[in-house]
Amino acid sequence: MADSSVQERLDKVRRAIEDAARLANREGDEVTLIAVSKTHPAEAIVPLVEAGQRDFGENRVQEAAAKWPQLKARHPDVRLHLVGQLQSNKADEAVALFDVIHSVDRSSLITALARAADKAGRRPDCFLQVNLAEEPQKGGCTVGALPGLLGEARDAGLPVIGLMCIPPADLEPAPWFALLAEHGRRLDLPALSMGMTADYPTAVTIGATHVRIGTALFGERATT
Ligand SMILES: *Cc1c(COP(=O)(O)O)cnc(C)c1O
Repeated sequence: MADSSVQERLDKVRRAIEDAARLANREGDEVTLIAVSKTHPAEAIVPLVEAGQRDFGENRVQEAAAKWPQLKARHPDVRLHLVGQLQSNKADEAVALFDVIHSVDRSSLITALARAADKAGRRPDCFLQVNLAEEPQKGGCTVGALPGLLGEARDAGLPVIGLMCIPPADLEPAPWFALLAEHGRRLDLPALSMGMTADYPTAVTIGATHVRIGTALFGERATT
């Protein structure tokens, strides 16, 4: 049986997604809810799986490799999303573990992922991460680099499905979401990975197809 508070949190987030989608004349089921389980142990994840959640996100390959193989063995229909920065030397591990990679942002990583995908015979869907405000501490490419990276990824056989962003923490997020949506339209990339606990309803009204939610589903993370 799923823990009732977990079920309530999940229902609440799903309802908020549906309400936001309706405001924008969209359907709630156009939006993939990714439960970001970073820092949370398997015991905290299992109740969500049992409540029907199927898309999960992690931000570190090492942590995911420790937690997910066992969980995936029991629940093979779970889809795992990498939402954090990826080092090229972890490309093999990432390709083996993740179904979707949201943080593709440079040529060297595209090369490493393509090589890993060829070797594994497995091609995770990819998002190009854009650092819209060019914040030095964050991953993501510049807007100017987008068309070139998209071309490289396609040439290398990586399926790029959309764009991902993490807007600046201290600013109103809506303009950044709208900007990402505009770049997605220009490049003809249909998927938009944007929106976290603090701002996902706004992201959904502006066109998010993938929202990445940690705190609203799992509670606060211990700061490490
Ligand atoms: C941790 C994280 C999230 C989830 O953040 P919450 O505010 O807890 O919902 C989403 N996206 C990325 C890239 C993250 O690292």
